[in-house]
Amino acid sequence: MRRFLVAGNWKMNTTQASARKLASAIAAAVPRDRPDAEVLVCPPFPYLLPVGETIAGSGVALGAQNVYFEPPGAFTGETAVEMLLDTGCRYVIVGHSERRHVLGETDAEINKKVIAAVAKGLQVILCVGELSREREAEKTESVLETQLEGGLAGVDAAGLARIVIAYEPVWAIGTGKTATPDLAESAHAHLRKLLENRYNSSVATATRIVYGGSVKPDNALTLLEPPNIDGALVGGASLQAATFISIVQAAVEVAGR
Ligand code: PEP
Repeated sequence: MRRFLVAGNWKMNTTQASARKLASAIAAAVPRDRPDAEVLVCPPFPYLLPVGETIAGSGVALGAQNVYFEPPGAFTGETAVEMLLDTGCRYVIVGHSERRHVLGETDAEINKKVIAAVAKGLQVILCVGELSREREAEKTESVLETQLEGGLAGVDAAGLARIVIAYEPVWAIGTGKTATPDLAESAHAHLRKLLENRYNSSVATATRIVYGGSVKPDNALTLLEPPNIDGALVGGASLQAATFISIVQAAVEVAGR
């Protein structure tokens, strides 16, 4: 059975003080051994260490929002997998739509990051999702296929066991527009079918596919109910402890049914 993952992507937000406060409130609400839902926070790079200290001993894991694929060396401004592991990160988000569409990251670069992170023991949240114009042109399935195949090139079944796929329709990120549960479920089922074709059905069944795009306390329950949705990647609503915890509670409730 797949365990829900609820991950908070804090993006380029918080200060050291507010990051510690937010992490502390979330950690206080998440017991250490939470079998029904895994909880993760992804603060900005400068706050990984203070947030890691704050959540130590709780049930909340630490993740980063990006990584570089080269080992430590002369790459000014970049951050290596080894450094993320050294700060206590267990996860890294790769291929977020803001990195694809604002910062121009390509599937080839994303793939190198996936391979480097997986090879060195980080778990990856690989984000895929279509733009509004691609959905309107009925290209959603082909965009998802291109991004999934591009991101997973050269990744075998053992590597995939370290990867969570995040379906994040770009038009729903930070916009308040949420995919309906049916629409999200249909994209997740398509992604799972692509994984089945690429690997096999047991690998596809074991892989978690989380939804991201304006997940809030008032829509979390219905978005987490469909069978192929295994959690949420949360942006805006992860910046308030109360709203993030309420989404975690929705996952716990659905898992308990
Ligand atoms: C995200 O950043 O991955 C995200 C889904 O943001 P939001 O929840 O604000 O739409």
